[in-house]
Amino acid sequence: MTAIDPRAGRPITYPIPVNTTPTPTSPLPTASLVDSTLQGFGIWDLHCHPVQGDTPYKRMEKMVSYADRMGIERMCIYMGYPFPGAIDSTPEQFRQDNDNILAILKDWGTRAFGFVYLNPHHLKESLYELERCVADGPMVGIKLWVGWKCSKPELDPIVKRAAELKALIFQHCWFKAGGNDAMESTPQDLVDLSLRHPGVPMVCGHTGGNWELGIRAIREHRELYSGLAGSEPTAGYVEMGVRELGADRIIYGSDSEGRSFASQIAKVTGASITPEQKRMILRENLRNLLLPIIQSKGMKA
Ligand SMILES: [Zn+2]
Repeated sequence: MTAIDPRAGRPITYPIPVNTTPTPTSPLPTASLVDSTLQGFGIWDLHCHPVQGDTPYKRMEKMVSYADRMGIERMCIYMGYPFPGAIDSTPEQFRQDNDNILAILKDWGTRAFGFVYLNPHHLKESLYELERCVADGPMVGIKLWVGWKCSKPELDPIVKRAAELKALIFQHCWFKAGGNDAMESTPQDLVDLSLRHPGVPMVCGHTGGNWELGIRAIREHRELYSGLAGSEPTAGYVEMGVRELGADRIIYGSDSEGRSFASQIAKVTGASITPEQKRMILRENLRNLLLPIIQSKGMKA
């Protein structure tokens, strides 16, 4: 075998052991690639963006092919392709995005749950979308991103209606070292919103990115949940969450396909916590939050 000697910058050769194992003639079955422990969890993923493929169906098909490798049963999907990249999405943009998610749900209702994407800067249109996609449609949650700071009063009618519908509220939150976008929420903004809506569960997306601050920000507010998705799989993240919030307030999500399922699941499976705590984080906490709306719609959990 030939390689480049990094010190000399010239090719070197060295012996390599001969592999005497016969090459398999057919691909390994997918199931054998999944650790049986992972399969046993029956993972639910809170945070997925189906973006790869020419049609909504194919985008979900691709995502399911990855999910099956990792033992993921269910995925909450929102903001697929074309990604509504405008920070302050127009009503046309978020309506189009919700149409794409609705198209996926027609074929993939056994694997996907839809969250309606809203921009409270456009309040009237957001309330309309909430009715169209959740009250009158199959979606079970709402996704709030960076168009409007969540501590603002425009959020109140949205939260009130979402609570009536039992729709789970997910808000992107970040503490950015260089400063947030003008309307990007921090975990503290979510705390301010939560204080006006006692009894309504909400998920602090990304746990603020800077999770050591994010966990502290939401710690005293029992209705706020830590969403694990979309940051580096740093050691200590989940352990601190379990210690400070309790395992029942932490929810696994990936932010796939911007992040891999494997790296995000590893935050939980690699943590020094009990198997039962892992099961709560990877499945039960999210399932418990969604069960009321799933059952009210006659859907299968
Ligand atoms: Zn995301």
